[in-house]
Amino acid sequence: REVLVHVDHMKKYFPVRKKGVLKAVDDVSFNIYKGETLGLVGESGCGKTTCGRTVLGLYPVTEGTVEYAGKNVTNLKKNDLNWFKKRAQMIFQDPYASLDPRMTVGDIIKEGMENFGLYPKKEEREERVYELLRLVGLNKEHATRFPHEFSGGQRQRIGIARALAVDPEFIVCDEPISALDVSIQAQVVNLLVKLQRELGLTYLFIAHDLSMVKHISDRVGVMYMGHIVELASSKELYANPQHPYTKALLSAIPIPNPEKEKNKVVLPLEGEVGSPINCGPGCRFASRCKYATKRCKTETPVLKEIEKEHFAACHLFD
Ligand code: SF4
Repeated sequence: REVLVHVDHMKKYFPVRKKGVLKAVDDVSFNIYKGETLGLVGESGCGKTTCGRTVLGLYPVTEGTVEYAGKNVTNLKKNDLNWFKKRAQMIFQDPYASLDPRMTVGDIIKEGMENFGLYPKKEEREERVYELLRLVGLNKEHATRFPHEFSGGQRQRIGIARALAVDPEFIVCDEPISALDVSIQAQVVNLLVKLQRELGLTYLFIAHDLSMVKHISDRVGVMYMGHIVELASSKELYANPQHPYTKALLSAIPIPNPEKEKNKVVLPLEGEVGSPINCGPGCRFASRCKYATKRCKTETPVLKEIEKEHFAACHLFD
């Protein structure tokens, strides 16, 4: 497998006025292989969106490195940053807020092409806009219309077309279906899967719910307060979760079979969620974990391989 994105001990801290520092992403390491979808899941505030944005260079890295196709892309400047932006794009969570209401759909899609000097002739750009609209299930007539004329699902399709306009290889999908009606979510996921197959794309797919990434991800990483606490193939993670936090998250997903749903054991997520501001060593899940020992409060567990290609950060596996 070819590694496309290699994240090594990446940290992203934000200063908080008078309080200290918010450790949004705190020492995460992972690979994303070419052509795969890596799901990144956790509750809101766990650092998953910050992680995606930092990988793309939208936030400067506090410590650690990000490599893309073997090239160090940590905190790039100008020309080098453009090289990376042309290859790595983002689809945003909120299709309402992420499209400029004063621009036509055609201009929104064209903007990236113009910034990167792609398709220099006007007619070529127009033709490319039509092609992209077709690709995402819209049509030529939509190019002259404005974002407010479209439904949430259609706006997300426009957001996808905009990301594809510069022919990227890698896309960070930041909760692309969370703001959409449940009935529309599957359509957008199916579109992303189709585009991945047709264009050979690689995705980092961010979601707050494990059930959302189940069908799209090859592998899934679970984040908790700035750390990746478990990482495995999607099949393995759902069938054989190991970290106490992943087990609790999975037990909360309803099972479609009523008989099984009635008999399943739900592991409650109780206890105070700690604060990521100025947090010191120790397992950040300790305040909610029924297995926590004295050691968990003082020593940070590191992510290690507990079975082949299955990683977890928990002292229970020492
Ligand atoms: Fe629970 Fe300790 Fe494992 Fe953290 S390291 S998940 S507190 S057992």
